[in-house]
Amino acid sequence: MEQNATEDQIQAVAAKVESFGLKSTIINGTERTVIAAIGEKRGSFKESIESFPGVSALTPISAPYKMASREVRTEPSTIQVGSFTAGGGHVGYVGGPCSVESEEQLISSARAVKAAGGTGLRGGAFKPRTSPYSFQGMKEEGLKLLAQAREETGLAVFTEVMATEDVDLVCRYADVLQVGARNMQNYRLLEAVGKSGKPVLLKRGASATMDEFLLAAEYILNEGNDQVMLCERGIRTFESHTRFTLPLASIPYLHRRTHLPVIIDPSHGTGHTYMVHDLAVAAVAAGADGLIIEMHPDPPNAQSDGYQSQTFEQFAETMTRCQKVQRALAE
Ligand code: PEP
Ligand code: MN
Repeated sequence: MEQNATEDQIQAVAAKVESFGLKSTIINGTERTVIAAIGEKRGSFKESIESFPGVSALTPISAPYKMASREVRTEPSTIQVGSFTAGGGHVGYVGGPCSVESEEQLISSARAVKAAGGTGLRGGAFKPRTSPYSFQGMKEEGLKLLAQAREETGLAVFTEVMATEDVDLVCRYADVLQVGARNMQNYRLLEAVGKSGKPVLLKRGASATMDEFLLAAEYILNEGNDQVMLCERGIRTFESHTRFTLPLASIPYLHRRTHLPVIIDPSHGTGHTYMVHDLAVAAVAAGADGLIIEMHPDPPNAQSDGYQSQTFEQFAETMTRCQKVQRALAE
């Protein structure tokens, strides 16, 4: 729309878009308002819309993902939930164990995250494990402990939802719904978390391309939920010195393609505790909007992912260093 377009003109164009059987979404930027028209191309659409008062230009969005595209929303999105903020210059720091195991384990972790300057608490209550014989998570009991930890520390709770039928349950306790790498292309689940209206941390599938990743985010956005964060957690390659290969190039690439915040997971991305610190610092230096890091009071005895989990001390050291880099970049 033109910079001085009136609210009536904006509403009239949105209604016209809908009359073509397309979905309209009004995006209010600081510079101008954009009306996204989503759907299949329609015959006389272009001519009809262009002649409406207040319309500046009709621009086809070349990216296959529309709502996620930077072409539609040119300014970076900021996601804010409780004390956690990511995007638009804010870096959100999430720490916590891979799995919620006990009250003592989770509450001590939450306190350590908070003390180190973290703003989000992670912890899996429903765990997607490669083997059906591995620990599957504490389920609702785990969710209750996460809510208790939030109560005590004020940290925003990030936890994975694995199945569509669990979305309501997880929403009752979580602040941010995590969709795991194995579920990145579970489209019914993406729609369900989209409908939930809760902020979502979408993890990249281990073999997903960037377009597939962004189209998965598009499923959530298409349900009217614009609180989506993209999490690069590493991809499967021929390399074996790391559990996955963590491409930090995803940060500038995604920042160019999308307005959504980019969160880096150096824990799954490397699979080795000793590498987590350096990759976390590098991610912040490369412009990441947030980090999600596994830490545990006793990593060797963790129920899952102990070999990539930091101790509380290591986590605190990583936080200090990352915040230092953040400050240096802001100068
Ligand atoms: C996790 O965060 O513990 C997890 C299972 O991550 P991912 O889905 O990236 O493997
Ligand atoms: Mn894990």
